[in-house]
Formats: sequence, structure tokens, C-alpha cells
Amino acid sequence: MSTNFLPYALPEIGDDEIAEVVDTLKSGWITTGPKAKRFEHDFSAFLGDEGLHAIAVNSATAGLHLALEALGIGPGDEVITTTHTFTATAEVVRYLGADVKLVDIDPATLNIAPALVEAAITARTKAIIPVHYAGLAADMPALLDIARRHGLKVVEDAAHALPSTSGGALVGTLASDATVFSFYANKTITTGEGGMLVTRDAALAQRAKVMRLHGMNRDAFDRFTAKVPSWYYEVVAPGFKYNLTDIAAALGIHQLKKARAFQQRRAQIAALYDQAFAGLPLITPPLPPAGQTHAWHLYALRLADGAGVERDRFIERLFDAGIGCSVHYIPLHLQPYWRDRYALAAADFPHSQHAFERTLSLPIYTRMTGTDVERVTAAVRAALGR
Ligand SMILES: *Cc1c(COP(=O)(O)O)cnc(C)c1O
Repeated sequence: MSTNFLPYALPEIGDDEIAEVVDTLKSGWITTGPKAKRFEHDFSAFLGDEGLHAIAVNSATAGLHLALEALGIGPGDEVITTTHTFTATAEVVRYLGADVKLVDIDPATLNIAPALVEAAITARTKAIIPVHYAGLAADMPALLDIARRHGLKVVEDAAHALPSTSGGALVGTLASDATVFSFYANKTITTGEGGMLVTRDAALAQRAKVMRLHGMNRDAFDRFTAKVPSWYYEVVAPGFKYNLTDIAAALGIHQLKKARAFQQRRAQIAALYDQAFAGLPLITPPLPPAGQTHAWHLYALRLADGAGVERDRFIERLFDAGIGCSVHYIPLHLQPYWRDRYALAAADFPHSQHAFERTLSLPIYTRMTGTDVERVTAAVRAALGR
């Protein structure tokens, strides 16, 4: 292996982030407080929609759980999502005792296939969780139309989608019930661990805020604020511990300011890859419709049938050349828990299965230099025997 290994992902943390964290540490207030509030405010401002409530949480998983809980999802209910995702998208449904209905993807976009969502609806179906795979918006007009016609809730898993657009509008401002972003270490902006739940629904926002912190409610007493002592609170539900610390929010405040520049750099790298791979037996990732923004969280390349090398061997060759890569995703229908719990077979998800067997994700992050990108493209050509 090369001594100069190019990792699959690296965060870009600048002096602004570091200074803000130090300021937080010196301030005496390190858990949820003024910085988390400012991050929430900045986040709705970034989305450019005054009517949005932004609720900072300690992971996207927590945000998805809170959104579904606030929508009343529970035992006996079914929630439809894609098999081509990370387990967090689906596990939150099981936290609430509801059932997951996995469906296959559109082979062109690798996003959940609206026609299959509609076919999977039963009398028990309560919600749909679309995932904007890699940062390319799912077919939200079709999904929102299905939801409206069948009276279903929509919670977007936007872990890859900051910033992405659908029909010119930023993901987070669409007509779904809630949207959840992730700030995990390798996401498009990061707070180490963290997430943001965004909704226009004031009741959902209120419930999520209460459940984010142990089911404790002070806001109910806002009208008596002057009379309620600062130590007083009421526990109105068995809530969770999902609040974002000010230390993490300090990172988020500055990462968010760079989100657009970061996206532009990742889009540039994606374009360089596309160019370098033209004419090779590779399927480059689907592009958004003209004028739309792709967040490019992932650059998921697929080996074409004539590639002459299997995916696993191909990844080994890249590793031997000092290039880190990953696979997104081992579909949920192949994971023991999901496969056994719902008796799933690969044959029921032909498009996800086909994509999985051929896919690998190349490094795509802002700290990559032009030379790094060239190293990757040269290693890809060499791994193909070109
Ligand atoms: C990263 C990710 C999550 C989970 O995000 P956390 O912030 O780590 O909880 C959920 N869904 C998808 C598709 C992801 O990639």
C-alpha cells in the first residue's frame, strides 16, 4: 500500500470553527444554549423560509425518530422507504414499534421509485421516508402527490442533501411534513455528530422540542413566564436525550456559512471525474435536471458489464494504489436484521441489487487537491487495466 494514502473522506474544519469552539469552551456554557439557538436560526435563514422551524439534534437518526414520533407513528402502522439506504432511515420506524415496507429504486436515479411506493401502500401505511441518495433529490413532486392522494405523511431523509434542490426549491423547503439533515463527520457539513429537523408544522415542532429533551415542557408556561421560577419544569412524556451541544453548534455555525462553497467544490470534482471516466466501461452517477443543485455527498460510480473486473477486486486495486473508497449501500434487504425480520429476497429488489453489485463510492471532499483527483482517476484507469 502507498504510504501516501488518500482517505475516503475528510472534514474541512477551519480557523473560524476552531475559534468558535474555543469561545464556547471559555464561555462557561458548553451544552445546548445560545450557540445551538443561533445555529437553528442561521439554518432556517440558509433555507430562506421564514415559516420554517429548525430544531437542532445530536444526529439525523434522532431527528428522524422525533419527526415520526411527533407524527404519531406507532405499533400497527407501516412506513415505506427505500432499500438503498443506511439502516438509520428505517431503524427509527422500528423504535416506534411500527413496520417498515422497503421498496426498490429507480435504476436511473437510484432514488426510491414512486410507482413502487404507490404499489406498496396498504390500509396500514402512514408515511413515506424518501432519501435523496448521494445528494440528488428524489422525485418529490411524484412522492408528494402520492402522499396527498393517500393521506400519508412525508419525512425526508436529507442526510445527503445540503444543499440540494428539487424544482428550484431547496430540500428542506418542500411540502413534506419534516426534513432531516445530518452533520455526521463525513457529511457535506459537519458538527462531528449532529442533525437538524426542519418543519413548517408548529405542532410537530413543539412536540419534537419537548421530546428532544426528556419530555420536559417549559414553553407551555410561556404566558406565565414572569411567574414561573427558572428551576421549574413539567415532564409531560417519556422523552429522549437528543439535544445538540453548543460545542457542536459552534462548528455548525461556520460550516453552514461554507455550505455553498463546499457544494461548488464537490460539484467541480464530480465534473472532473465524469470527464475522466467518459469512454471507460463505467456508469457515472446520474445528474440532476438542468438548473438543479446536487449536493454531491457521494460520487457513486458503477462498473459497466464490460469492465472486466469485479467490484470487490476493483476496490482492492484502488486501496493498493492508496485510494480509500466505500460502498453505498449494502442494501437493507441484504442486512440480516431486515432480511430476516421481513423475509426479504434480493430478487424483490432487482435494481438496488444490480446497483449494489457494481457500485463503489470514490473520495469527493473539499480538501482534495487537483492532484488528489488526478491520482484517483489514474488509479481507476489502472484498476480497469487501461
Ligand atoms: C448518515 C445518514 C443517516 C444518519 O445520520 P446520523 O447523523 O449519523 O444519525 C441517515 N440516513 C442516511 C441516508 C445517512 O447517510
